[in-house]
Amino acid sequence: MKKIILFILLFLLIALLLLEAFNHTLSENFVVKTQTITPLKNEKTVPPAVSVINNSSNISSEKMENPEQPLVASNNVYVSIFPEIINNGEFFKVSLSENVNPLSSIKFQDKRYPIFKDNAGEFSSIIPVPLSVKEGSYKIFIEHLEKQKIIYENISEIKILNKERGFDYVNLSNEIIASSFSKESVKEDAEIRAETSALFSVGNYWKGAFAMPCEGEISTMFGVGRSYNNQPVSSFHLGLDIAADQYTKINAPAKGIIKLVIASPLRGLMVYVDHGLGVQSSFSHLDSVFVEAGEVVTRGTLLGTVGSSGASTGPHLHWEVSVWDTFTDPFVWTTTSLFD
Ligand SMILES: [Zn+2]
Repeated sequence: MKKIILFILLFLLIALLLLEAFNHTLSENFVVKTQTITPLKNEKTVPPAVSVINNSSNISSEKMENPEQPLVASNNVYVSIFPEIINNGEFFKVSLSENVNPLSSIKFQDKRYPIFKDNAGEFSSIIPVPLSVKEGSYKIFIEHLEKQKIIYENISEIKILNKERGFDYVNLSNEIIASSFSKESVKEDAEIRAETSALFSVGNYWKGAFAMPCEGEISTMFGVGRSYNNQPVSSFHLGLDIAADQYTKINAPAKGIIKLVIASPLRGLMVYVDHGLGVQSSFSHLDSVFVEAGEVVTRGTLLGTVGSSGASTGPHLHWEVSVWDTFTDPFVWTTTSLFD
């Protein structure tokens, strides 16, 4: 009798194991199947809302061969993202076809960015990616107002990589620290930054990649961690430093409008240029300035000369490019053309 019971138990156990194995195979097959039916990128015949979401999940795999090929959003708005893979501290352009609601905005990482009609007649928004953003794929939303309700629609996705930017150890004399890094100086500089954040205009003035504003050697790249006088790293370099002789000419890197000429104890004599669509350049530590607020400058216009004013260890240009007040890598502006 015992033998029979043991035999039945063994039989049930084997049956259970077989059933489990079979289920496992089924579920694996199911996963594979859902992956194979994912619509291909740029396939415009599949239901649009689904195609956009699934398309964007493909973006994370590898760089697209044709990044400017438009996608289709569910309300028949054509969307393109350029570039589709970037580093933290860089930027991208969202372009939409003309039938977009003018009150719409782009939502990325809990911030809203206005959409403007650019020189090419497209509706565009330039989105900055702060240095603090971690590596990963991030969704891009369009926000519209429909029947007095705010509607978010996931229109695409962008892949962000984290670039290794290194550290820089700076030694400043006690005099410079006392004069430039005093509480009053830091406060004054913060006030200038707050003032300039309200100076954006709407136009899209420039075309092509930016030019390097002066001849010289890049001495500090954007995003490098900074330690002053052997103290722990306390900040990140928000611009690009170009070491050059005193009085070297500084030229506008792209078309824009001079927004401000001002001096600060930290950044010395400086010029702000508004390039439109939320993009601003500033040039610091200048010796002299040859332009005035309100002047229109084009790529190559002489702005001023290299100096060492403010908290500086020697003649160099500190060039910042911000997008809606977020600092982006100026060097990438010289290699990326958002508007041809
Ligand atoms: Zn600098």
